[in-house]
This record gives sequence, structure tokens and C-alpha cells, in this order.
Amino acid sequence: MINKKLKYLILFVTVSLITTLLAGCGETKLEQADMEDFVLGTFGSMRVFASSTKKGEAAMEKAFERINEVENKMSTSIEGSFIQQINQLAGKEAVEVDDDTLFVIKEALNYEDVTQGTFNIGLGSLIDLWGIGKEWQKVPTPEEITEVLKHIDINELEIDGNNVFLGDKNMMLDLGGIAKGYAVDEAVKTLKENGIESGFVNLGGDIYAIGAKPDDTPWIIGIQNPVIGSKTVMAKIPVVNQSVVSSGDYERYFIEDDVHYHHILDPETGYPTDNQLSSVTVISEKAIDGDVLSTAVFVMGLEKGLLFLEELENIEGVMITKDKQVFATSGIVDKLEIMDNSYQLVR
Ligand code: ADP
Ligand code: MG
Repeated sequence: MINKKLKYLILFVTVSLITTLLAGCGETKLEQADMEDFVLGTFGSMRVFASSTKKGEAAMEKAFERINEVENKMSTSIEGSFIQQINQLAGKEAVEVDDDTLFVIKEALNYEDVTQGTFNIGLGSLIDLWGIGKEWQKVPTPEEITEVLKHIDINELEIDGNNVFLGDKNMMLDLGGIAKGYAVDEAVKTLKENGIESGFVNLGGDIYAIGAKPDDTPWIIGIQNPVIGSKTVMAKIPVVNQSVVSSGDYERYFIEDDVHYHHILDPETGYPTDNQLSSVTVISEKAIDGDVLSTAVFVMGLEKGLLFLEELENIEGVMITKDKQVFATSGIVDKLEIMDNSYQLVR
């Protein structure tokens, strides 16, 4: 004779089994697909979960195409891009740009104001002088820098409908600090339009996590150890439908006479930003915001940058100093997990 306890146990197991089976019926099994490509001068990778690998790959192909489209419109070095045309016709005539380019330029203009000029797409001539993104790099003379700083005034940028004009013939636009973020957002949009509800896009460290992982847990994104040459992860953060974008002095740089020169310029001095920070990571709902803000906050420095980030809604940030101290905004500090114990979380 089966005792009462055992009867209940059998009933419980049966009910659980049926519930599990029923739950299983509604789900279609998702397949993982991955794709990589060299885009926007950096390494791009995507991972998606779709009803079939084939569907996932087709969606990623479209997303990479969209990234190439953005690059062809906004790169300073691609022949015939809208930005190259604007720079070539500076001081002469306006260029009619498409809606993508107009959107990014307008966002950048707004951010120049919001970030008190620390983010400025009008730095093209200065970026060029330093050879950033070029085959060669050199330290300019102080005279050269003083001269070029006369030609970075964003008020010289005029917009009339889709027509963009640079009034100063010696000025150039450079969207290097914003276009990648926009490209990530557009790739994500393309993936979502093609039915993707879970996955990620990573363009050289500008990351967006779509939805949650297929098992409904958040994506865990690593923050790179900003020590030059180190490719390890120093902390992790869980995210769902958010972007994680970092800027730092460890990414693109050159060394001359034992001095380290990197690619984030301080519009006030004309030199690479030199403060106690070694990286800034911004967590936001759109990668375009993260791209701009990580660069701007890096220029602002620790104290000003932290206050600035704290005041922005739906934006969180993690700042790492050269002496390995970590500062995080109040919305993320409890979720941040330090992996490398040579780093100390201060707040
Ligand atoms: P990465 O391209 O490594 O992700 P960032 O997002 O920080 O780095 O952008 C740096 C790029 O932005 C530089 O290569 C340059 O083209 C441009 N840039 C540099 N300094 C500034 C600045 N103060 N404001 C706007 N753009 C900048
Ligand atoms: Mg950036």
C-alpha cells in the first residue's frame, strides 16, 4: 500500500511534468548564429538567436550592410562621403546631405551644447593635424596647434533644411566620436526589424545587447581593463536592451619621446586629454548617446564628469582612473561586479 506522502509526491511530480511540457509547447527552439566583419575601421561582431541559423545570418547580413551604408555617408576618408564633401566645400558652398547624416550632425550639435563644448564634431582640422586615423602620427608644434584651434568653432556650421555649410574654409567635420554609436543603433534596428529579439552587436567595443539572453537572464557585458596592452575584463555589468560604450586612452595611441599620445582631444588645449582618467564606460538606451558621452566625460575628467553623468536621466557610467580606482553612478554601482581585484570600487 502506497502511503499518503508518496501519493502526494507522485501527484506533485506529475503536475510539474505536465506544466513543464505545456510551457515547452509555446517555445520554438532558438538557434545561435554569429557573424564578424571589419567595418568602420574596427572589428565588428554580432550574435543573434533566431528560429533558424539561416534566418539569423540573413538578418546579420542586412545589419552589416546598414553599417557599411552609414560608414559610406559619414567617414572623412571615404571618397564622396557627405562629410568629405562638406569638408572639401568648406567656405565655398553648402552640401545637401541625406536624412541619416543630417540626424547625426544635429545630434552632435545638440551634444556640443549639452557637454559644454567637450564634444565637438568641428575638430576635424585638429584631428587631421595629429594624424589620428592616418598611417602616420606626429606631435604638432605649439604654433600649429594654436593656429588650428582658430578653426574649430561649431558656430561656423550652418544647417538649412538638408543643406550643410561650413563657413570657415579651414574647418573640417569629423564624426569619429559619434558615427560608430549611430551605426550600432541602426544595426540593432535592422536586426529587430528582421525578427531578432535576443543577441548583441559589438563594433570595436561599442556594444548593444538586444533583449535578454534566450534563457531570460540579462546579458553580461565586460568592461575592458584599460591598462595598455591588456585584453582582460576588469568588471562585469548585466544589461537588457541597453548599450555599453567605452572610451579610453588605451585604444588608439602613439608614443613619441616616451610620451603617450591618444585620440581623444581636449578642444580647449588642442592636445590629447590629460587627466586622471584612463577609461569611461557609459550605459544607455542608445549607443549614439553612449558614444558621445563616453568621449565627452573622458574630456571633462573625474569630478565634473561624474556629476554630469549623475544628472542625466537613463544614463549610467563607470569611470576608471589611472591609479585603478573605480567610480560608478548611483544607478549602476550595485550591479557592477569587479573581476580584477587590483581595482578598487570607490563608489
Ligand atoms: P573610439 O573610436 O576608440 O571608440 P571615441 O568614441 O572616444 O573612440 O571617439 C574618438 C574619436 O572621436 C577620435 O578618433 C576622433 O575622430 C574624434 N574625437 C576626438 N576628440 C574628440 C572630441 N573632443 N569631440 C568629438 N570628437 C572627438
Ligand atoms: Mg565614443
